[in-house]
Amino acid sequence: MKVLLQNAQIIDPQVKLNRTADILLEDGIITKIDESISIKADHVLDLKDKIISPGFADVHVHLREPGREDEETIETGSSAAAAGGFTGICCMPNTEPAIDSAEVVTFIKEKAKGLLVDVYPIGAVTKKREGKELAFLGEMAEAGVVGFSDDGVAVSTSHLLKYAFEYSSMFNLPIVEHCEDSSLTVDGVMNEGFNSTKFGLPPHPSLAEDLIALRDIAVLDYSGGRLHIAHISTKGAVEILRQAKKRGLKVTGEAAPHHFTLTDDAVQTYDTNTKVNPPLRSQEDVDAISEGLKDGTIDCIACDHAPHSIEEKEWEYIYSPFGMIGLETSVGLTLTKLYHTKILSLEDIVMKMSINPREIFNLAKAKIEVGENANLTILDANQNWTVDRFNLKSKSINTPFHGWELKGRAIGVINNKKLIINKQELNI
Ligand SMILES: [Zn+2]
Ligand SMILES: [Zn+2]
Repeated sequence: MKVLLQNAQIIDPQVKLNRTADILLEDGIITKIDESISIKADHVLDLKDKIISPGFADVHVHLREPGREDEETIETGSSAAAAGGFTGICCMPNTEPAIDSAEVVTFIKEKAKGLLVDVYPIGAVTKKREGKELAFLGEMAEAGVVGFSDDGVAVSTSHLLKYAFEYSSMFNLPIVEHCEDSSLTVDGVMNEGFNSTKFGLPPHPSLAEDLIALRDIAVLDYSGGRLHIAHISTKGAVEILRQAKKRGLKVTGEAAPHHFTLTDDAVQTYDTNTKVNPPLRSQEDVDAISEGLKDGTIDCIACDHAPHSIEEKEWEYIYSPFGMIGLETSVGLTLTKLYHTKILSLEDIVMKMSINPREIFNLAKAKIEVGENANLTILDANQNWTVDRFNLKSKSINTPFHGWELKGRAIGVINNKKLIINKQELNI
């Protein structure tokens, strides 16, 4: 089948491409890129004023299957990802059972077969994520995990972390760290500062994040391996990452849209959708994250999509679970808060949402070049739209961005011989 994509601005910094042209796809393969292609195709899409980029990948997603299929499944999470402009997602191991064996890895990969979105499991560092003994990292690597993490908590001890680095480096896979010294955050539900005192909520200090980032970098320096710091939320952690990179250590980092969009002022509504871990921080932290994204310290944007049921999110603030969904607002928030404010260029955004995450986690290539599989994201950087949580593909609706006006969104994705454009799905 032939699909002709016309008149789009094609941006792929990997092949130094940034120009307006047509792309021809034949049976899911890019067969021609040219100023103007005239050919009889089965589908012709006029993408004037739209952008075609290599397919975006979000490396930090919680899919809840197995265990909490009422909140999200592999299928609904993938639909949410496609609707949000992603063609690849990495799913975190805090499921029930945890992703700590080849069996669970295989189960997820089987369930994801045939979907437009590629699903890449991340295995647990320790058995059941209990922090007591190392999980079977080799067996999971063989089954196809793309990294290891005990996300939800930090790797419990320096001893286990050191072994985890040593084993994971045998497979060239990163350890993805949730930086939180839990001895400092007991019962903490929001950032420690003026607001936590004012709102009377138990505090979670930024020091908890900075300390584990420092510990992990020290251990990495000693043992070798690769470290990827998840959801960076503090000014301190940005600086720690910046210095570690200067020293040449193999460390990368990600930031979530809510951490460069909201401050802990948002908690004053006591809306439990503002309760995330790590928490929303101060303006100083938000500015440091934008700066870290701009100067290249922070490599990726990943949303930490964390679906929760309405019943649980309706509990009191201190009892409600941590997390907000993010797959369908990530691109919109990024374009609104970073592109339209001139903090990042479109090329930078493509680097942080497609190229860097794919490289760090060894995901399938997405390159706009003749002969490559069509793995593409289509953006309308100027479309104004309003977030409506009742009109999302995710099974859960826990977002604090309901009713927000955003500028820019993904309008289509192409991958695995499937195409979605303006919510219409086609097999190509
Ligand atoms: Zn986490
Ligand atoms: Zn997470």
